[in-house]
Amino acid sequence: MSEEFTEKEPARDAGSAVKMQPISVTKTEDYQYELLRVEGRTKRARVTTVHGVIETPVFMNVATAGAIKGGLSSRDLNEITTQVMLCNTYHLHVRTGDAIIKELGGLHRFTLWDKPILTDSGGFQVFSLAELRHIKEEGVTFHSHVDGAKIFMGPEESMRIQANLGSTIAMAFDECPPALAERSYVEKSVARTERWLQRCQKAMAEMKREETAVNPNQLLFGINQGAIYHDIRIENAKRISDWNLDGYAVGGLAVGESHEEMYSVLDDVVPYLPQNKPTYLMGVGTPQNILEGVERGIDFFDCVYPSRNGRHGNLYTNHGTLHIRNAKYQKDMRPIDPDCGCPVCKQGYSRAYVRHLLKADETLGLRFCVMHNLYFYNHLMTEIRSALDEGRFTEYKRAKLEALAENCAD
Ligand SMILES: [Zn+2]
Repeated sequence: MSEEFTEKEPARDAGSAVKMQPISVTKTEDYQYELLRVEGRTKRARVTTVHGVIETPVFMNVATAGAIKGGLSSRDLNEITTQVMLCNTYHLHVRTGDAIIKELGGLHRFTLWDKPILTDSGGFQVFSLAELRHIKEEGVTFHSHVDGAKIFMGPEESMRIQANLGSTIAMAFDECPPALAERSYVEKSVARTERWLQRCQKAMAEMKREETAVNPNQLLFGINQGAIYHDIRIENAKRISDWNLDGYAVGGLAVGESHEEMYSVLDDVVPYLPQNKPTYLMGVGTPQNILEGVERGIDFFDCVYPSRNGRHGNLYTNHGTLHIRNAKYQKDMRPIDPDCGCPVCKQGYSRAYVRHLLKADETLGLRFCVMHNLYFYNHLMTEIRSALDEGRFTEYKRAKLEALAENCAD
């Protein structure tokens, strides 16, 4: 540390070994984004919200209907070092209903999770789950996947639901066109999504000022779209970057294109999004994808892989994936990963027992596997942040990719 640093009041370092003065600080009445370190295009940042601090790069844990599938509570999330819980607007709107959740005090009070929550806009579910949808300028009419009931959702409806839930971060309502959609369709879709974004901004600004607002400091992130057409995405990124949103997401990736195509979109598009605000790659991905995303300037991630793979008994380790249902683990009394600090491995539950639980359809087996996998992802992000803090990300990434590619043979 140079003298120059010691003269100033040291920055709080929340779990990091290195004290840092921010490179830049973006501050509004609702949040603060401190860019702490850059290495190439990578970003190491700290976001201070009304629900607490988010150290980035961060992996948000997906709690679709207000809980992680696999039986994890908000208390468990604290134990596995989760920073942000991600909930799905569409699912909570259909069941139990956002108006009821607002009446009960909002999503934080409902789930007893007092840290940041990001809600998606419902758009992705509307366009992927719902049947018989009809898109108009106003929004989308579709049928609920639960009971077939007719629902209309547009920018204002999505903002209303997310305002009722009172999440920390709301996402703009967008259309996510298929990766292989025709160029002419994508052009029209992106133009409409931009008009929707302006309506979202206006609606959110109004709703935050309402006397009954659950979270008067709710943040709004805009979403870049454009399928695999780089020029459409770049033009869109340039325009929405000027609209003063609280953060910017790259949406519509990991929906059928190759990993190389996804990386190449990030290479071209992320430089046009504000570096001094959160950058979020939606729905991505594998640990490898996350390392590549961090390298390209992404600082927020989310994905269902760790919980979904966990429920299927596919467990991440530092030496490749372990398929716990395999017969060879029947008498294996070692923890899932001896180097893992998750509550399951730390307490010493054996591979033999975890395998038995899954085979016997015991819900405890699902819970153990999901806890282990989510901890793996959360810990991966801790390692990434430490590597960035210490200026050794490139080296860390190379070693990690090699370890992940190992074939967990024993
Ligand atoms: Zn573990």
